[in-house]
Amino acid sequence: MDRTRLQHLLARESAEAERRNPRSKAAYARADHLFGRVPMTWMNKTAGTFPRYLGTANGARITDIDGHEYIDFCLGDTGAMAGHSPEAVAAAVQRRFAEQGGATAMLPTEDAEWVGAELTRRFGLSHWSFSLTATDANRWAIRLARAVTGRSKILVNSYSYHGSVDESLIVVGPDGRGASRPGNVGAPCDVTLTSRVAEFNDLSQLERELAHGDVAAVLMEPALTNIGIVLPEPGYLAGVRELTRRHGVLLINDETHTFSAGPGGCTAAWLLEPDMLTIGKAIGGGIPAGAYGLSAELADRLLGRSDLDLVDMGGVGGTLAGNALSVAAMRATLEHVLTDDAFERMGKLAERFEAGVQQAIDAHGLPWSVSRLGARTEYRFASPAPRTGTASSEVADPELEDFLHLYLANRGILMTPFHNMALMCPATTEADVDAHTDVFSVALAQLIG
Ligand code: PMP
Repeated sequence: MDRTRLQHLLARESAEAERRNPRSKAAYARADHLFGRVPMTWMNKTAGTFPRYLGTANGARITDIDGHEYIDFCLGDTGAMAGHSPEAVAAAVQRRFAEQGGATAMLPTEDAEWVGAELTRRFGLSHWSFSLTATDANRWAIRLARAVTGRSKILVNSYSYHGSVDESLIVVGPDGRGASRPGNVGAPCDVTLTSRVAEFNDLSQLERELAHGDVAAVLMEPALTNIGIVLPEPGYLAGVRELTRRHGVLLINDETHTFSAGPGGCTAAWLLEPDMLTIGKAIGGGIPAGAYGLSAELADRLLGRSDLDLVDMGGVGGTLAGNALSVAAMRATLEHVLTDDAFERMGKLAERFEAGVQQAIDAHGLPWSVSRLGARTEYRFASPAPRTGTASSEVADPELEDFLHLYLANRGILMTPFHNMALMCPATTEADVDAHTDVFSVALAQLIG
């Protein structure tokens, strides 16, 4: 890759973004009262010098306040995998909030049991509880795991992401031992006191760490999705289950992103048997919602413990968790939008996307790869695709990524800012996918020169 050429192209696209988006640029310049000028500091993770401001959104389309339309493959980094404001969810939200009234009343609604039963049908776990974010689902799953096992540590995979969960911000350091993830903000203590870490796809490292006998739970994505997509090698997930069982360690599958694999995520698609499962983002169809599921055996063990305060200040709960609006949105999303049929169509579109990207990569002779997990695809600047989180983090190329993101965005295609992820929603079309393939191919031609 000719870096000078890349820098020149990046500067050209950055200037083009400024020309195309004067309103967004001005809004950002005016945002003096926001910490970092944005509603949440990660919104500064954008290619170019300012974020594009959201105007309207519907299905797989977004418009910015400058009046440009985008095909949205970012889909709120999975939060909008159901598409933006799908009709059934909009109607359920309108009904619950405006007609029946009551978003948050500290009282259950009958929708909750419907959602619990549907999550059981999809993921297999028998008992469910709700949160508003995947982060909180993970936090509470971790607390329950510690309570029931009496062990203190949580094991995660290096360069996994599970939200701002303190225990999860650990990586395998250069000496092969656990170390704080670079840049971690405000850790309560040295992360090695609360956590252990192993590389994804490395069973001997996992076995070595579990042998210490102090791990309450392994919290993992069945495929890593936050450092590119890193797929499990044959036998790896079965090995994880075997080792966790042998060492009396609970297995928590975080399906927040891997839900893209199908209606019951990887857990159903690959017949996995976790003790707990966490999920968030997409299941609310755009309304904040999350959930965690427990096996029947685990639920019984926990509910039988009179020393645990599960109903008051014991550390598991959120006042608005499971609120009527959030639960109504989950029901509408699961019942009418992210259905078994929808996943079938979304998977086919992602296959088409993957094939288009692969063709473009091959045509330009680039040493890149593209991976797919159901409705989610991602290209990575390495071939073959990396097999661990650390290896995948080492092939990151922020400059190259910024160029591709800006080039695509300036031509009406939105990718996920944290990586080269493209997600299909029920409203995505083949023409949308082909539009990406075309623009992506021209971007590569420009890069190669
Ligand atoms: N788990 C996984 C696998 C995630 O990718 C994320 C966020 N990207 C989270 C949990 C946390 O989700 P949230 O920020 O919505 O709490």
